[in-house]
Amino acid sequence: MSPPPSPAPSSLSCRPARDRRGAASAAAAVQVLELARGGGGEQPLPMAHRAPECAGYVREYMRGKKYRADLDLVASEAAAYARSLALAWDGRDAWLFDIDETLLSNLPYYADHGFGLELFNGQEFDKWVEMAMAPAIESSLKLYEEVKGLGYKIFLLTGRGEGQRTVTTYNLNKVGIEGWEKLILRGLDDHGKPAKTYKSEKRAEIEAEGYRILGNSGDQWSDLLGFATSDRSFKLPNPMYYIP
Ligand SMILES: [Mg+2]
Repeated sequence: MSPPPSPAPSSLSCRPARDRRGAASAAAAVQVLELARGGGGEQPLPMAHRAPECAGYVREYMRGKKYRADLDLVASEAAAYARSLALAWDGRDAWLFDIDETLLSNLPYYADHGFGLELFNGQEFDKWVEMAMAPAIESSLKLYEEVKGLGYKIFLLTGRGEGQRTVTTYNLNKVGIEGWEKLILRGLDDHGKPAKTYKSEKRAEIEAEGYRILGNSGDQWSDLLGFATSDRSFKLPNPMYYIP
């Protein structure tokens, strides 16, 4: 299990954080991201809108090599962990992936919308989703292929709604992501639930079906925390928005 987010600092700082080994870390993004936590519901809270001092940092981070390097770091640690386990080979060893900013990148959309400087516009974002043009996050695609090859059953657990199942499947397949066990989207009963609650409930359902959730990859703490958590979780960087 990855460590929970540290409390939001009392004063604003957009300097990248460093992990214990001094390596560039996903925590760099999280430190900024955590500044603007609060609120509720399922809407992404844009970061730079709440902390405009960080807009320049977020923009440069997302455009630059550091974001990719942090993604690579998280994926390589996840792959090493996945390889290290002796699977039971009973078809019940599971790995979870979130979709947005985990398997698929909406960076082209956010590049046109201030990298989190603008308030989230659901209708505009849905138009982007319907285009099914989100590219894969390359390091996640590689990890996906590796864990699938190792024999894990893959579950995709997303905050997208059931109405976007077809376009989401199409987009995933288009970038080479396929062969998952189950794609779970928000149904009518899930509407309005905080992401952490919704995702915890879905993980509990997966476990109730007899699966052991050994790994979980997501860009939001709400992908990873709550109950029925995976044995280990891997937090990808995303300083653009926060989903509670
Ligand atoms: Mg996500």
